[in-house]
Amino acid sequence: MDSMLRAHGLGAAAVDEVVTAARAVFDPRRLRSLQPFLLERTVDGALRLFEYEIDADSFLRITKTPDASNGLRAEVLPIPKTLESVTASGEIGEATPSLFQSIEAAGEGIDLAIAMAEVFAGEIDFNTDLQPGDRYTLTFERFRREGRPNTYGVITAARFENDGRVLHAFRFTTPGSKPDYYDENGRSLRRFFLRSPLKFVPQVTSGFSARRMHPVLHTARAHRGVDYAAPSGAPVVSIAAGRVVSATFDNANGRMVRIRHASGYESYYLHLSAFARGIKAGAAISQGETVGRVGATGLATGPHLHYGLKKNGVFVNPLREHRNLPPGDPVPASAMAAFTAERDGALAALGPAQSTPVATR
Ligand SMILES: [Zn+2]
Repeated sequence: MDSMLRAHGLGAAAVDEVVTAARAVFDPRRLRSLQPFLLERTVDGALRLFEYEIDADSFLRITKTPDASNGLRAEVLPIPKTLESVTASGEIGEATPSLFQSIEAAGEGIDLAIAMAEVFAGEIDFNTDLQPGDRYTLTFERFRREGRPNTYGVITAARFENDGRVLHAFRFTTPGSKPDYYDENGRSLRRFFLRSPLKFVPQVTSGFSARRMHPVLHTARAHRGVDYAAPSGAPVVSIAAGRVVSATFDNANGRMVRIRHASGYESYYLHLSAFARGIKAGAAISQGETVGRVGATGLATGPHLHYGLKKNGVFVNPLREHRNLPPGDPVPASAMAAFTAERDGALAALGPAQSTPVATR
């Protein structure tokens, strides 16, 4: 906190006073980068007002006041906000080729795009599966905060029309369980495997990156797996919950992480530039947790992720396997009536789908 205040022109003596005052109500070590703050100072480097946003809910305010002993009053105050339920739509097209551009065009922030990508992470690889003409509508909670950017609560319902498929997600709480997302028939959207080991992160794109990024399946005996072209440093995540078997370096595979999962599966992540913190033999890992960063270590001509999947000791085609595995538990029969009522309300808010669903038999 003191280096930040000093860098913004506050005198050394004033900085000490501010940090001391702040300490009474807030641990300055909790200061995080990129959080907004406001600093008003006098021409001689003294403090007039300092406000720092601690998190989405509260902020620290330090003001000059004659009635406090050192002349400063420090308080942690709630950020006034109003909760609203909002429905927004977007489309992937020439003007908005990425999900982020499209969500911005809809007037919303990228946090919302990331949250939506997480809801559909078992069904859509948002790095490679998006197509021109894809569209979505979602209903979500938005917190309007006075004089500050909006933040988001939960997504309550979403529809994503991807490459002719119409996918729905409804947030529902089965009595006695945690809230989860289900499709229109009450089937869980949770999958044993994520669609992709590459995390969906904001990136600048010029036109459709999907073609360039599309995974290449290797079937050569010595090199079985999928290559994902990705920038160096992009986060690589575990496709399922499990336990780290090894995190090693060798001249062929570079930095490689092996993870054992339930049902005889083992996943491999190769050529990493770095391991994530805590990734070592024996460590427990959850689905979607970062294992490392994309790199070009070992035998690699450029930065990419080589991802492999073994079932009972034999390499299999991960892209097929990801789709095959059964989803999580559906809405139980006892809660189906409640689910149906909530779903119908949510569908009315989403409005009709635009694509004609592909007939299934
Ligand atoms: Zn490869």
